[in-house]
Amino acid sequence: MTRTRIGVLGAGAMGSGIALAALYADHEVTLTDISAEALDRAQLYIEGHLSAKGLSERAKQLKISPELGAMAGSEVVIEAALERLDLKQELFAQLDHICPTPAVLATNTSTLSVTAIAAGSSSPERVAGMHFFNPAPAMKLVEIAQGASTSQETVDLLVQLAESMGKTPVVTGDSPGFIVNRVARPFYGEALRLLSEGVAAFDEIDLLLTLGAGFRMGPFELMDLIGLDVNLASATSMYESTYGESRYRPHWLQRQMVESGTLGRKSGAGFYEYDGDEKRWTPPLVPEIGQESGYVLVSDGSWAPDLGKLLGQAGYTMSETHGDLPLAAVVVNGREEGVVDVVRRYDRGLAPNIPILCQTADIDLSEIQQGSKYPERIVGFDGLFLATGKASTLVEGWNLADEIRVAVTDLLSALGKLPIWVQESPGLVLPRIWCCLANDAAFAVGEGVAKPAAVDAAMELGVNYPTGPLSWAEQLGYEKVASVLDHMAHSYGEERYRVAPWLRRIARHREPRAL
Ligand code: NAD
Repeated sequence: MTRTRIGVLGAGAMGSGIALAALYADHEVTLTDISAEALDRAQLYIEGHLSAKGLSERAKQLKISPELGAMAGSEVVIEAALERLDLKQELFAQLDHICPTPAVLATNTSTLSVTAIAAGSSSPERVAGMHFFNPAPAMKLVEIAQGASTSQETVDLLVQLAESMGKTPVVTGDSPGFIVNRVARPFYGEALRLLSEGVAAFDEIDLLLTLGAGFRMGPFELMDLIGLDVNLASATSMYESTYGESRYRPHWLQRQMVESGTLGRKSGAGFYEYDGDEKRWTPPLVPEIGQESGYVLVSDGSWAPDLGKLLGQAGYTMSETHGDLPLAAVVVNGREEGVVDVVRRYDRGLAPNIPILCQTADIDLSEIQQGSKYPERIVGFDGLFLATGKASTLVEGWNLADEIRVAVTDLLSALGKLPIWVQESPGLVLPRIWCCLANDAAFAVGEGVAKPAAVDAAMELGVNYPTGPLSWAEQLGYEKVASVLDHMAHSYGEERYRVAPWLRRIARHREPRAL
């Protein structure tokens, strides 16, 4: 795209970042704001960053003005003023006259309807969403949201503009939260529920998501960083704009913290406590892979792929029968394979001090325990991330024997995993959060918000997920995702966990599907 005259309206956190990103891409920028102070701050910020990159000359391509009229002559305007519909509609009505057709008018709104904002303009076909992520110069994703009247030419031009700025544009429909701010909700919402249900401590949940599943930050450290008030506002907006969709219901715990002024890093305390930007928290050590010599009986199943390899690396020998071997443990890795029956089969012939580990992402541990003669030796585990993660979930049954706890902790440690004991809970920690993310992604696809590949790209680039939720579901198998969600829906009796029709269809019929 050739050098374009871009107007940026609003010189706050986002507007100044968008202006800088446009200057990096060699465009001309006019930046306006009603606040002289905001303009001064933005100028310092922009010039400082340009000079740090050896691009001080580009400052000549920046015009700063407190007057909206200075936007005249802009080919594209990107509005990044306050998140208020009445204000944005008023600004778009004024832009109609200042920047007539064929100028394109974009809004950086995160939560408002592009269609509603465009109603302020007499030519809504040239209005679209252009949603940058914070910090705008660094984050690669831009969601281009198509309102009810937005023309294809408008979308195409904004796609080109985003590309010229080195961004990856993803086109979405105009529904609440577009892609990222909606699909990411369960990351926080389910984590808060797990915490309030007493399943695990907040830092344990963070460790499972980071060390266990490869996320850059856990939900609690991320909420602390974003600000609990900002995150709550986003949750509330999603909930209200969908007229109470239960998947987006904000959590009372978050509200309680906001009302008490515990806002995260910026207030010195959130879930963690802070010294400036530093968390006051010492991470636990991840154990080294051991050199064992025992036997482990692994019953067939597909929930923990590469389990045999993992045991082999730690020196264990896999056994198919228990015979008279000195077994370190029995691992039952299935569900459809009938965990309860398998446990019953081994249980009676094994000394009671030999632990039996069962995958329990989609089945109650207590159901398995009930079928056992020695329920105190039954332990749940999460097979899904066992092979790749550095932390792994173990589930405590209702009467876990101390010697079994020690033996299973040692076994997991020997595999080079940090064992994290949690209370029994439907879907455990990682399957619950990941399956809910995949389910929301599937709802978004089914509702026509975006194509599967666009949803995945948005989550990888907008919030740095280790993989897109739908690619993850594809790797795991949609049937397993549906079975975890069904188990949660059955256990909680809540609509929140209903399976998206699009996901159900693929799980049932295994439709071939291009990501
Ligand atoms: P901000 O409060 O930092 O900046 C808003 C700026 O708009 C202020 O400088 C204010 O003076 C100015 N403003 C207010 N009324 C104005 C008017 N009538 N004319 C011109 N300027 C006016 O807010 P922000 O975080 O930069 O957010 C801006 C927009 O971007 C919002 O719509 C927000 O939802 C969206 N957004 C924010 C983020 C984020 O992480 N902060 C991310 C994506 C999108």
